[in-house]
Amino acid sequence: MVVLEHVNKYFGELHVLKDIDLTINRGEVVVVIGPSGGGKSTLCRSINRLEPIDGGTILVDGAKLPEEGKQLARLRADVGMVFQSFNLFAHKTILQNVTLGPIKVRKVAKAEAEKQAMELLERVGIAAQAEKFPAQLSGGQQQRAAIARALAMKPKVMLFDEPTSALDPEMVKEVLDVMTGLAADGMTMIVVTHEMGFARRAAQKVVFMADGQIVEESTPDEFFTNARTERARDFLSKIL
Ligand code: ATP
Ligand code: MG
Repeated sequence: MVVLEHVNKYFGELHVLKDIDLTINRGEVVVVIGPSGGGKSTLCRSINRLEPIDGGTILVDGAKLPEEGKQLARLRADVGMVFQSFNLFAHKTILQNVTLGPIKVRKVAKAEAEKQAMELLERVGIAAQAEKFPAQLSGGQQQRAAIARALAMKPKVMLFDEPTSALDPEMVKEVLDVMTGLAADGMTMIVVTHEMGFARRAAQKVVFMADGQIVEESTPDEFFTNARTERARDFLSKIL
């Protein structure tokens, strides 16, 4: 579903993604973990062209993302993204946040978009908040709204970049529960997170990234009980 081949990315002199090869199959959940500055966010952002890459190819569902233009907007809609900092439109209601993309990009009629949005808000447990503005919601509710907004575009793959790290502990679970449900429904997901419980429960694959490279790629079980590299074991000893 998502294939990266020889992906390289520089920020000036800094080599941030070093010849990354990674395949995420349809319906697979891949958790990406690793030390700060290792390139996890850049990897996510490059998959939907929020960051241009300097070499290699990235295919989403067999298609290369175009550089720019209308086609990019449409293909980018195939890749839903959820950030640490919710990124909702502050001056729109939750319902408007969720319907905007389908109406503008997918050309869905307003009434139909609203009907689908309400179903999604129901699914993430915040239908009662539909007419409120983002600032009136808790962090966990805002993040669930952001997930609903991404899902409204009917993406083929969902990227999550540390979706729970800005949340108070009691709100982490409600967001992880929504993500676990999505995984169980067969959504293809790339999740940057240090929530090891989620990784064990929902992921088929753990990718350990450091210094712009994929250092290890294994099952959660292998990784957490028997990491192969010193680098990974050292990292795990600090977070577990
Ligand atoms: P964290 O766990 O802290 O979120 P990360 O693994 O997501 O880290 P990235 O944000 O991808 O790491 O950053 C990788 C490297 O690229 C870091 O050295 C960072 O300073 C650098 N970097 C990221 N974004 C930019 C940018 N827009 N311009 C210049 N350098 C950048
Ligand atoms: Mg990051």
